[in-house]
Amino acid sequence: MTATLDQSSPARTLVEGWLQRFDQALTAGDARAAADLFADDCYWRDLISFTWNIKTMEGRDAIAAMLEATLDHVRPGNWTITEGEEPAGADGVTEAWIEFETAVGRGRGQLRLKGDGDDARAWTLLTTLYELKGHEEPARGRRPMGAEHGANRERETWAEKRDREARELGYAKQPDVLIIGGGQGGVALGARLRQLGVPTIIVDKHPRPGDQWRNRYKSLCLHDPVWYDHLPYIKFPENWPVFAPKDKIADWLESYARIMELNYWSSTEAKSATYDEATGEWTVTVEREGQPVVLRPKQLVFATGMSGKANLPNFPGMDTFRGDQHHSSAHPGPDAYQGKKCVVVGSNNSAFDICGALWENGADVTMVQRSSTHIVRSDSLMEIGLGALYSEEAVASGMTTEKADLTFASLPYRILHEFQIPAYEAMAERDRDFYLRLEKSGFLHDWGDDGSGLFMKYLRRGSGYYIDVGAADLVANGDVKLVRGQVDHLTENSVVLEDGTELEADLVVYATGYGSMNGWVADLISPEAADQLGKVWGLGSDTTKDPGPWEGEQRNMWKPTQVPALWMHGGNLHQSRHYSLYLALQLKARSVGIPTPVYGLQEVHHTK
Ligand SMILES: Cc1cc2nc3c(=O)[nH]c(=O)nc-3n(C[C@H](O)[C@H](O)[C@H](O)COP(=O)(O)OP(=O)(O)OC[C@H]3O[C@@H](n4cnc5c(N)ncnc54)[C@H](O)[C@@H]3O)c2cc1C
Repeated sequence: MTATLDQSSPARTLVEGWLQRFDQALTAGDARAAADLFADDCYWRDLISFTWNIKTMEGRDAIAAMLEATLDHVRPGNWTITEGEEPAGADGVTEAWIEFETAVGRGRGQLRLKGDGDDARAWTLLTTLYELKGHEEPARGRRPMGAEHGANRERETWAEKRDREARELGYAKQPDVLIIGGGQGGVALGARLRQLGVPTIIVDKHPRPGDQWRNRYKSLCLHDPVWYDHLPYIKFPENWPVFAPKDKIADWLESYARIMELNYWSSTEAKSATYDEATGEWTVTVEREGQPVVLRPKQLVFATGMSGKANLPNFPGMDTFRGDQHHSSAHPGPDAYQGKKCVVVGSNNSAFDICGALWENGADVTMVQRSSTHIVRSDSLMEIGLGALYSEEAVASGMTTEKADLTFASLPYRILHEFQIPAYEAMAERDRDFYLRLEKSGFLHDWGDDGSGLFMKYLRRGSGYYIDVGAADLVANGDVKLVRGQVDHLTENSVVLEDGTELEADLVVYATGYGSMNGWVADLISPEAADQLGKVWGLGSDTTKDPGPWEGEQRNMWKPTQVPALWMHGGNLHQSRHYSLYLALQLKARSVGIPTPVYGLQEVHHTK
């Protein structure tokens, strides 16, 4: 039921009226009537609360079909406007933060209405589940006591309990969930599962949490600002740098894993995994500090990194090249290359960062641009692209990380580009001189297939851009030399392009990106399982490197896949933080036997 205030604003009255009609239709089990409360052009994005899936229903028919299939068991109700969040109208759209319940959990969401009075119709609706009834996290009023007052000869201290758990889990007791990969994705999910009481082990082949970042080239700092990067539960302190250096992030992840009491097995490599549908159990062989251990979790999560499986090209002559050559992920940094001739193949983030650091260290650097790249200046992106949600100003105006994440999530992917295009037009205008200089240098620049810029490129293909922190100027002014074209072959001491250009080289860096995460599944489970899972990432936008058909959500990320009990997790820090909640709740529900009928499991259209 909707709450009422004595002095209702028109926006509040409008939202209350709509929620009441919506509630009535849902309670009556009338899917069509509920769908009719949506506008002709409408979107309902659900993060597991109705669908046990991450899914956007586009149009009234899709909404009605989803409700037909789910209403009986979801039994939604108690639709209210979130306390302290006043609905507001602007430009013919009324926005409201809302809360609701289902048979098994509590949800929150965001509603955007168009029109007036009883004719108001929903344009966008976001529904998300944030906790399961009876399985709430032990936080705030539910926090653990810590001390056990009284007299007890069997007393076990916190440290003794932790030691016992660490000794037993994986040996005497099997985890419900095994997470392969203990980067930011693995630890964020692990932290949520720990709070939900789901026995979990995280394995990572590196000796220490954070090594994923430590091992990257030494000049690397995060490209995203601190407000966007928080992990769940523990925010960065107020004096944390805006762009954290990679080793600082690494130390944070290491401390986080310890403080959040994660069962983190370092120096442990997952070697193989098979699933037995009859027992509902995985058999995963891992090598822990050289010793084989067989784990039998019910659920298996790959948090092995979207930027983890290096795409190393196979150019003729690579085997004869006498200098140093490596993928960008293996680039140690510039120290050994002062005065050397360095060729960097690629023109995206890593390529620019590496070129910049090599140039700063006195190397003779050439960038080989093979296809066009989108560049956006860091300060412009911060101000125009992220500022309203993730900035000091946003924090000062009361924008919490959680609210920012939900606001971001509330824009359906089908129309997200429409909101992005004007932002990038504003950046183009603001940095007009910069782009003119860049293009003059011969650099091939683009704004994405439809002008929607960096974030859409990231969601669609996870590549094709550089957030400029200075190296673009080096290319524009010729300090870093630029050649355009495809690599034909390597000789003992040079890179030769298809047009015959020969670039002498002591070092070749292949900044050639990363493969789809289902490649990890092929390695560890089987090529058949990788095909059954299909391509990971992308929206099906039918733009460059994101083939259709339209999926409407990130393929295979954080939601059920075509491979039973197999999950993919990761993304940037923002995504890892936000979507780990929904993945953790899906795993928790399965762990305690709450039915999780999945609506609209995605089909596989691409295997790579
Ligand atoms: C150069 C660069 C800069 C980036 N900058 C940013 C940024 O500024 N902001 C941002 O949000 N994102 C950034 N990213 C993207 C992304 O956030 C990072 O790649 C991040 O490390 C991804 O975290 P993850 O936990 O998903 O995967 P990873 O950090 O890649 O961790 C995966 C882990 O899986 C482990 N693993 C793999 N296979 C196995 C196995 N068989 N057994 C055991 N362990 C295994 C690996 O050892 C690794 O530790 C950047 C990426 C790169 C490459």
